[in-house]
Amino acid sequence: MDAADISEDLAHVLLSSDQVHERVCELAEQIDADYAGRDLLMVGVLNGAMMVMSDLTRAMKSHCRIDWMAISSYGSGTKSSGVVRILKDLTTDITGLNVLIVEDIIDTGLTLSYLIQNLRSREPASIEVMTMFRKPDAITSAVEARYVGFDIPTEFVVGYGLDYDGRYRNLTDVATLAPHVYS
Ligand code: 5GP
Repeated sequence: MDAADISEDLAHVLLSSDQVHERVCELAEQIDADYAGRDLLMVGVLNGAMMVMSDLTRAMKSHCRIDWMAISSYGSGTKSSGVVRILKDLTTDITGLNVLIVEDIIDTGLTLSYLIQNLRSREPASIEVMTMFRKPDAITSAVEARYVGFDIPTEFVVGYGLDYDGRYRNLTDVATLAPHVYS
């Protein structure tokens, strides 16, 4: 589904699927180079990171392992609740492994800082963060992402894995929603 298919639901297309794809390929190249000769475990944060994980790992030219975590974040609204809970834990023991967390978006950084703290206590060899999108508030949070797809304005966006009330994850572009969708 692309922006033209649901244009009545959208206010503004921020990034086209081509722009996203091009950036994902650049990041894959960077990650390949940085982790050359080292085992890498990519940890995706469900459900938002499913698209970026799938595209990023397939664009890479070296081996990696993939595991998933699910943590609570926004519920069905558009504001961070501040409550973070593990809904699904990793199946991999990450002790001594090089871990790269793959996130869809960092807004306040609350979710990610909890996740990093939690994973650090399991004593991986290294832990880094890749996020497809980052909002301005994230810059002031304690979380540092080594790989960032795009810095975007402080607006609620959907598409490329990001939902509103469970919908729009399969939108290939990244867009803001028209006001009527919220009412
Ligand atoms: P944070 O804890 O950084 O404030 O929020 C992180 C999580 O909130 C993300 O993983 C994502 O699930 C959700 N989130 C933050 N901003 C947006 C947004 O603009 N759109 C959507 N759909 N989800 C967002």
